[in-house]
Amino acid sequence: RDLLARIEQENPRTNAFITVTAEQALEQARAADARRAAGETGALLGAPIAHKDLFCTQGVRTSCGSKMLDNFIAPYNATVVEKLANAGCVSLGKTNMDEFAMGSSNASSYYGAAKNPWNLDCIPGGSSGGSAAAIAARMVPAATGTDTGGSIRQPAALCGLTGLKPTYGRVSRWGMVAYASSLDQGGPMARDAYDCALLLGAMAGFDSKDSTSVDQPVDDYLAALEQPLKGLKIGLPKEYFGAGLDSRIGAATQATVAELEKLGATVKEISLPNLQHAIAAYYVIAPAEASSNLSRFDGVRFGHRCDDPADLTDLYKRSRAEGFGAEVKRRIMVGTYALSAGYYDAYYIKAQQIRRLIKNDFLAAFQEVDVVMGPTTPNPAWALCAKGNDPVAEYLEDIYTITANLAGLPGLSMPAGFADGLPVGVQLLAPYFQEGRLLNIAHQYQ
Ligand code: GLN
Repeated sequence: RDLLARIEQENPRTNAFITVTAEQALEQARAADARRAAGETGALLGAPIAHKDLFCTQGVRTSCGSKMLDNFIAPYNATVVEKLANAGCVSLGKTNMDEFAMGSSNASSYYGAAKNPWNLDCIPGGSSGGSAAAIAARMVPAATGTDTGGSIRQPAALCGLTGLKPTYGRVSRWGMVAYASSLDQGGPMARDAYDCALLLGAMAGFDSKDSTSVDQPVDDYLAALEQPLKGLKIGLPKEYFGAGLDSRIGAATQATVAELEKLGATVKEISLPNLQHAIAAYYVIAPAEASSNLSRFDGVRFGHRCDDPADLTDLYKRSRAEGFGAEVKRRIMVGTYALSAGYYDAYYIKAQQIRRLIKNDFLAAFQEVDVVMGPTTPNPAWALCAKGNDPVAEYLEDIYTITANLAGLPGLSMPAGFADGLPVGVQLLAPYFQEGRLLNIAHQYQ
């Protein structure tokens, strides 16, 4: 009830929630009380959370930040939603996001931009900006997000939080509205690594309903937190500290590295030579997959349907023209172009080859070091609308985060101080399935 009151007070300022589910939340809370009274224990039993509005929630609108799904009420729960509910979590609602998770600012939401609680004139980051704003404004202690190219880590960094993108296949994608299926991964966002560890432990695991889910036991993430860092080898890619990085974030990253050295870590310069091609490859692959995934929104099966269609083609055309916003249309066009005959080899295949080279860069780096570390973002949160007419300027902000998705690696962003009052984050990347290591380092540092 306290948090619902807090949401009532703070949400008009931050626009973090698209839907608040007060009644269901109280019902779930009572059910958690009953489970506790019956002797059940568990840190998440009764823990309030929120879900990014692309996780399907039975009986509750799942809009994906789009007019297209403004009227969509999912008939089932996403696996992540189901697992967290089984652990006893109480969902207070669905959080704002860039339309279909396309963006790094939350500005493309049909429901209006979410705002950064640290400075309401600035973006909270995206696409999981509503989850980040909700946590930073203390409306919920933790929330789910999804990360296709940085959408958990970047808003976590810009709002002073900890966010973890798990290894591809660690968390089920079933019931997550698909953006780019080979890159999408759900994960936790919270104030610190401890809370992320709690959430990840409940979210992760094999799911036969997701064909890319990996059948591997889930680690004890809470136990991993307490490992000493002595002997940890950190790699700093020299390409992360070049032109384009805000000097205050560079300094904050170096200061964090120095703290980790005091805790027993050693540092080594490494190289990720194909970083320079990452944005170009990502912004071919992600739109290509999106153009395919979003073809299901045709005005027939899901969501928005235009009035009085003249015929079937008119129904498709106008439903999609009316339902999708500008950024989504741009991606569908870019993706369709890249996949079309004659361009497929030149763009899509090339991008896939670069993707492999990027993965190989990391595999080589992990021969030398345990984790790769650097800034999460090149800049702190920018002013709302600052990049409104320049999509490429916004794409460039993803430079440090998209490689983890292209390679399928786990990545974590943790708070690393401030740049003139705005939070900044540092990112840690580890070999496959070493989420525990990332949480361990963040916990020891924090
Ligand atoms: N900013 C990137 C994009 O727009 C990443 C978004 C995400 O991770 N969902 O595609």
